[in-house]
Amino acid sequence: IRAEFSTVFDDEDEVTGFITVITDVTEQERIDQERREFVSNVSHELRTPLTTMKSYMEALTDGAWQDKEIAPKFLSVTQNETERMIRMVNDLLQLSKMDTKDHALQMERTDFVRYFHEVIDRFDMNKPEHVILQRQLPKSALEVWLDKDKMTQVLDNVISNAIKYSPEGGVIRLKVEKQRHHLLVSVQDQGLGIAYDKLEKIFERFYRADKARTRNLGGTGLGLAISKEIIEAQHGRIWAKSKEGKGTTILFTLPLMNEKRRGYY
Ligand code: ADP
Repeated sequence: IRAEFSTVFDDEDEVTGFITVITDVTEQERIDQERREFVSNVSHELRTPLTTMKSYMEALTDGAWQDKEIAPKFLSVTQNETERMIRMVNDLLQLSKMDTKDHALQMERTDFVRYFHEVIDRFDMNKPEHVILQRQLPKSALEVWLDKDKMTQVLDNVISNAIKYSPEGGVIRLKVEKQRHHLLVSVQDQGLGIAYDKLEKIFERFYRADKARTRNLGGTGLGLAISKEIIEAQHGRIWAKSKEGKGTTILFTLPLMNEKRRGYY
């Protein structure tokens, strides 16, 4: 809080009053601070793959290109890093579009149950063998307004995280429950879990619970931040529950359509 004091004089230089202006500068400062941190994070996140690529390319130029065994490995590292950088820049562009509200949601009336089955079917076709996807979906339809493409992005991100962090033979439970005015979607895994004090942070931009590990898994640290923006833009809420060593559950809500009033509840 910033306070400014001034004294009021009349024509004869007599003091007739005092003015105090109190401004709340904390909000502006917080925004400035966040912006500075964000720029510093972006620079750091982009510098890491670039320096890796630089050193591998230097090694190749210095002669490793002639080694039939080493050369393909080094090239594959630089290729992976390039791909990760492209993913990151695409994620950043998307976040920036959502920040400036320069995006229109393409909402359509959707039966969430049927739609969710389709998303899981797609994962079932391509998933690694070491995980099992288990569905707990209601039998009857649940109508919501959705931007399907954006919702698919959320589910892709949350389900692939669950797969990524699942142990051998791990079960991932995908559940949809009807509540009074919302539907509740949850994706539960039996992976390594997240410490209690880090649970909220995973929705922040670039936050990774274990930097080295998730970077190796090809993550950008932006997936859940994007998911949060998308869910909130569709009037839902997203959060996480976890027990370290036991697993993680990501949950989100979406408003149900009100049949009688043909709108939201
Ligand atoms: P990333 O690209 O690193 O996966 P996300 O934004 O999707 O970025 O996730 C942020 C961080 O949250 C991850 O780096 C990881 O530490 C943690 N996390 C997300 N999902 C899970 C999960 N299912 N189990 C354990 N940790 C998770």
